Amino acid sequence: MQNRRLAGIVAMCLLAGAASAIMVQLPQADIQSQADAIVTGTVTGVSSQWNQDRTAIYTDVTIAVERADKGSVDRDVVVRVPGGEVDDIGMAVEDVPVFSVGQQVKLYLARTSTDVFELVANGQGGMIDARPVAYYSYSGYHRSPASCYYSIYSGLPSDWNSAIQAGASTWSAAGSAFRFYYNGTTGASGTIYDGINCVSRGSLGNGILAQNSYWYNRSTKHVSENDIVFNTLYGWSTSGAPGLYDVQNIGTHEQGHCLVLNDLYKAAHTELTMYGYGATGETKKSTLEPGDTAGIKYIYGVGFDRGVPALKAPAVTD
Ligand SMILES: [Zn+2]
Repeated sequence: MQNRRLAGIVAMCLLAGAASAIMVQLPQADIQSQADAIVTGTVTGVSSQWNQDRTAIYTDVTIAVERADKGSVDRDVVVRVPGGEVDDIGMAVEDVPVFSVGQQVKLYLARTSTDVFELVANGQGGMIDARPVAYYSYSGYHRSPASCYYSIYSGLPSDWNSAIQAGASTWSAAGSAFRFYYNGTTGASGTIYDGINCVSRGSLGNGILAQNSYWYNRSTKHVSENDIVFNTLYGWSTSGAPGLYDVQNIGTHEQGHCLVLNDLYKAAHTELTMYGYGATGETKKSTLEPGDTAGIKYIYGVGFDRGVPALKAPAVTD
C-alpha cells in the first residue's frame, strides 16, 4: 500500500502489470528529505528485463526532465522499478506505479549506487498525469482454477503461521468458489519466481508494511504465483497489540491480492479489508466487509465449489 494518488493510478493503469503493498503513509516532509531528486517531466521510455538470476523482472523508466525541484540531474533520468513484462511473463509488485510512455509525472527519487534512481517509498508523494485516485477493485488478473496453494516460510514463528492461515481461511469462507490451500512450511522466502506461493518476512522499503508480488501470463491473465513479504522494519504482533501491526490484519489484506483484488484508497473504503493503508493495533481487516466479499464472488462466482484444484501442489523445499 502506498500513496493514495499513485496507487489509484496504478490500479487504473493495471494493464501494464501492477499490484499492491500495504503502506504506512509517510509525512510529505520525510519523503522530501529522503529524496535526492524531485523531478517533473514526461516518460519517454519504458524497458523491462529479467535480473541476472532470472528470479525477478525490473523496469527502467526514462524521464525527460522538465523541472528539478531538488537535486542536480541530467536532462534524462532513469528510474528503476521492480516488476514489468518480458515476453509472456509479467511480474506485478504491489503499490509500485506502472509507467507508460507519454505520462506526465512528478517523482521523488533516491539515487542508487549507479546512475539509476529508485522511487522513494514506492512513489509516495508523487503524481502521474495529475490524476486523482480512482475506485478500482478488479482488473482481470485472476487464479485459474479458482484456488491458490500457499506455503509459509519456516522461519516465521508459529503464531505468525497460525495468523496467516486464519487470514486465508477467511477468504476461503467468503462464499465464493475460491479456496486457499495451505501447503506447509517452506525454506523459500522473499520475492522469487520459483513456483512457490510464499509468505515470508524480510526487509522492504520505508513506508511499506507488506508487499504482494504476482506473476501472470500476459495473454490469459492467469496468475501463476504470489509472494507475500512482511516488512521487518516494523514491529508486529499477533494479538492486535497497540503500537504494533497485526499479522492477521495485514495478512488478510495481502491475501486479497492473491485473488486478485486491488487496493482501495478513498475515505469511503476505510473499513474494507482491501483499504490500502494499515495502522498499528488495527484488526478490522481480518474480517471481510461486503465490498470484499462482493469482489471475490464477482471474480470466482458463487453457488458451486470449483475449489478442487486441477493444479498440482508446488514443491515444498524445506
Ligand atoms: Zn494492498
